[in-house]
Amino acid sequence: MAEVSELAGIVGEAHLLTGDDIGDDYTHDEALTATPQRPLAVVRPASTADVAAILAWATAHAVPVTARGSGTGLSGACIPRADGILVSFERMADILELDTDNHVAVVQPGVTLHQLDEATAAVGLVYPVFPGESSASLGGNVATNAGGMRAVRYGVTRHQVLGLTAVLATGEVLRTGGKFVKATSGYDLTQLIIGSEGTLALATEATLRLHPRLTHGATILVPFPTLEGVAAAVPRIVGSGLMPTILEYIDFITMSAITSAAGLELGVPEDVKAGALAYLVVVLENRSDDRVEEDTAELAELVTALGALDVYVLPPGAGAALIEAREKANGADDIIDLVVPRAAIPQYLSEVQAIAGASGSLVVGCGHAGDGNVHLSVFQPDAAVRSDVVGRVLSAGVALGGAVSGEHGIGTEKKKYLAAIEDPAKLDLMRRIKTAFDPAGVLNPGAIFD
Ligand SMILES: Cc1cc2nc3c(=O)[nH]c(=O)nc-3n(C[C@H](O)[C@H](O)[C@H](O)COP(=O)(O)OP(=O)(O)OC[C@H]3O[C@@H](n4cnc5c(N)ncnc54)[C@H](O)[C@@H]3O)c2cc1C
Repeated sequence: MAEVSELAGIVGEAHLLTGDDIGDDYTHDEALTATPQRPLAVVRPASTADVAAILAWATAHAVPVTARGSGTGLSGACIPRADGILVSFERMADILELDTDNHVAVVQPGVTLHQLDEATAAVGLVYPVFPGESSASLGGNVATNAGGMRAVRYGVTRHQVLGLTAVLATGEVLRTGGKFVKATSGYDLTQLIIGSEGTLALATEATLRLHPRLTHGATILVPFPTLEGVAAAVPRIVGSGLMPTILEYIDFITMSAITSAAGLELGVPEDVKAGALAYLVVVLENRSDDRVEEDTAELAELVTALGALDVYVLPPGAGAALIEAREKANGADDIIDLVVPRAAIPQYLSEVQAIAGASGSLVVGCGHAGDGNVHLSVFQPDAAVRSDVVGRVLSAGVALGGAVSGEHGIGTEKKKYLAAIEDPAKLDLMRRIKTAFDPAGVLNPGAIFD
């Protein structure tokens, strides 16, 4: 029988936590429905070699391992098992390199988005993945394929990760990709590991693509009389060539909840508010104020022709506050982050309302409209009814050509829906891939599938 105390030989006594030394933070993430769990031990490695030794130990003794970045995940995926250990990356939080000629950053997994943003700003570059929580770690972003608001312009995490150092469950260390944007050299293992929620390998280093930082911008709020009007405007804005950095929709219920909770006054007159059933939030960025002004005028003309009630350029503070409040808005019983082709959003949202109405549930939302990622808050206190509603809402989206999760991942909280809705042949192949990477099944068992 293995003793977790043996792990002190790898990380040192001070970085092996057991019993009451394990703080509550290590027992949960931000998923609304998940149950916190205390592991046998928390291990805090300082290097790839430490991680390799920990994983070799875990495989040899068949002890489950869950990785943890910042614990901001929304699917329960970093919640440890009672019979397992939690590998926390807080000591591996260095930006190893900012290469301004190749436009890449090389980071350890515990680096946060906020930390990377400050460092890249200093050299006029940006890492453009911008999920709503800037305390999230790059390791967590890689493992969840984090998306966020700028995906409409820049894509998601998988479009920015050029290479990884990753440790397999056996303790073998892989280096994939590199400081280049193209490679056709066998299977793309970088992409396989991205989004695998800590079930295939643990990332100990990531090479990330950086972009020029556009320092001039405007946040524009556009009220529409109908949600369908908003949804129909989205493909037109994307097709206009204006290249919005952010293109979000917020329905009127969510908008009033956000603005009253955050005490935000956006300058929309009462008569316009009364007629607005949904809003678009558009951020335009460019290299100079003149260019931003030109783009804003063109956008205003376009949305007015598409039926917008008016167009408001928000003061910089209000724009940022609205976007931040939109990410934190809640109080719901569950959250769905399904993705559909963006042109299917109007049909999808009307199907969602029919499902919600039939079950006596309230399903409202906002989302990354530009990339079809709909975030729905489900208000239904009865767990059985809620589960049925969530299942139907997800199935309706998948039937329109969508996927169960656009960015939050499956974790433990959405796996029953994935099992019920996803193609069994694909799930079977995923299990076989999992076995090839992790023959003893120690990496995050119970996440994505059982
Ligand atoms: C207010 C709020 C807003 C949010 N908005 C968005 C959004 O707009 N878009 C979005 O995509 N997400 C969003 N999220 C979710 C969350 O921030 C992301 O899922 C983020 O990527 C999680 O990072 P983390 O460091 O907190 O990971 P954790 O929650 O710690 O872990 C997430 C997963 O990554 C695995 N993992 C962590 N580190 C490693 C590693 N080094 N190697 C392998 N596996 C690892 C864990 O085991 C787990 O499976 C939001 C969360 C909050 C609280």
